[in-house]
Amino acid sequence: MTMPTERSPETREREGYYGEFGGSFTPEVLHETLAELRAAFDDARRDPAFWNSYVEMMASYAGRPTPVTYCDNLTRTFGGARIYVKREDLNHTGAHKANNVMGQGLLVKRMGKKRVIAETGAGQHGVATATMAARLGLACTIYMGEEDIARQHPNVFWMRQLGAEVVAVTEGTRTLKDAVNACLRDWAESMDDTHYVLGTACGPHPFPQMVTYFQSIIGYEARKQMLEVAGRLPRRVFACVGGGSNAAGIFSGFLDDPSVELVGVEAGGKGIDTGRHAARLAGGKGRVGVAQGYKTVFLQNEEGLMQDTYSVAAGLDYIGVSPILADLHQKGRVRFEAATDAEVVEALRLTIRSEGIIPALESAHAFAGAFREAASLSSDDAILINQSGRGDKDIFTVADALDDDDWKDFIRRKSAGYER
Ligand SMILES: *Cc1c(COP(=O)(O)O)cnc(C)c1O
Repeated sequence: MTMPTERSPETREREGYYGEFGGSFTPEVLHETLAELRAAFDDARRDPAFWNSYVEMMASYAGRPTPVTYCDNLTRTFGGARIYVKREDLNHTGAHKANNVMGQGLLVKRMGKKRVIAETGAGQHGVATATMAARLGLACTIYMGEEDIARQHPNVFWMRQLGAEVVAVTEGTRTLKDAVNACLRDWAESMDDTHYVLGTACGPHPFPQMVTYFQSIIGYEARKQMLEVAGRLPRRVFACVGGGSNAAGIFSGFLDDPSVELVGVEAGGKGIDTGRHAARLAGGKGRVGVAQGYKTVFLQNEEGLMQDTYSVAAGLDYIGVSPILADLHQKGRVRFEAATDAEVVEALRLTIRSEGIIPALESAHAFAGAFREAASLSSDDAILINQSGRGDKDIFTVADALDDDDWKDFIRRKSAGYER
């Protein structure tokens, strides 16, 4: 596979900026370690051996390339475009997150650092990071709000088995944003031997660029696979958007193909008009601001106060969005839509029954977005859905959402040990 250097969305006027978005707004104490990271990443991405070692590791350890699956039953249900799915659910640890953490792990080894830290909300990024640390022989500390720990016992259990120290954060609301602060405090003191593994294409430069670089493996594989499997490029590509890493990853394979429309699907929650959602770009509710070290569109009020976000999918429940995607939105290259919880659960149910595939609730947003549009396209068109992860982790949430009393009861009894 060729290195994505030339085609990554990194052509920009100012270092670390994508149009007006991006940059690096951090306390002085982090400047040196971010400069060191930029230098190490610049050096690595110019070295073909680095990309090759990444591709080789993902092939032998994580099951890449993940397949593209043609979904005949779904296609017949909608009677329009042929529906294809890129199967990031088959990646090791069950989602695209492995691409990013394994890539950053290789970079950490190259930099000679010995320890990684990360924050996690639902625990998926924590498990992926702990997995990478075990494999690459790095010490690992995961920060997690006490409230989230109580809700995510299985993930906490596995992080500890993988050798990670899981630190319960007891400040503030004891959730993700407090874990982020605790993690940053650790980094400010430990950066000589420690790398902060950021989980999505957000945060200060070079994180958006670096995370997208590793996730671009999805898009490069998918473009080639569509030509082989479907004999054509897709007319539209759909991806769900939390922080934006799986979307930026698959879109980067098609940015130079003007015939391919790119569609990001955000969490519409209970409906954008209810205020209970996490749609920053679709619906125009977000505002440009600077927070968490970078400039992008955040869900905030006129005073710049961050709003509470909500989604049935924990991975999409986030106030910011990748500056790379905010820019592609502003330039009109990526269209943004939102799917409500109700649509997402319906799309999930249909996909499970029709194809025997269980998408993560996050990924089901991309399916819901695609299902809305499939019928209006012709059978000569192909659409490609990025299935960012598998849905096993969502068993309790889905049973609740489907309002299936027998199952809810069964799961409650089974899960008593998880204290959920
Ligand atoms: C974390 C997660 C997401 C959201 O993250 P992005 O950075 O927007 O890709 C989406 N899908 C799954 C399965 C996840 O675990």
